[in-house]
Amino acid sequence: MSEAPAIEGGCRCGAVRYRAEGGPLWVSHCHCEECRRSSGAPVSTFVGVRTGRFTFAAGTPGAYESSPDVVRKFCGACGTPLTYEAAIYPGEVHIMAGTLDEPKTLAPERHVFVRERMPWLEIADDLPRHDTLPRGVPRVPRG
Ligand SMILES: [Zn+2]
Ligand SMILES: [Zn+2]
Repeated sequence: MSEAPAIEGGCRCGAVRYRAEGGPLWVSHCHCEECRRSSGAPVSTFVGVRTGRFTFAAGTPGAYESSPDVVRKFCGACGTPLTYEAAIYPGEVHIMAGTLDEPKTLAPERHVFVRERMPWLEIADDLPRHDTLPRGVPRVPRG
């Protein structure tokens, strides 16, 4: 079985670049307020990858603790939000999908924290919708 192609991307100005080997663990839309404020957008789409197979390939991102045990990283030059890591999701880096070089190839599988969704944002897809982050959502490699 051949491995999925590497996931690469970076910030708007190009100062910070990342690379993840081994393909995505999952892809989700998050509607929570924390992500909304952190991204400035009504919904944030994330690609989960393995921490051990993720590296910043160029530049050093800024970082801050957005909540206890949650670290968000961003480009200090242009401000693009890049990643989310949390103690409750050990071994995972969550990449902001809008920063991928090839975002079209990684389609989301679900919506989470839909209870915090903007009422004026209608997304017409048939993906599963969860009020919070459901327990039992697969956090293991796909395929
Ligand atoms: Zn930048
Ligand atoms: Zn969120």
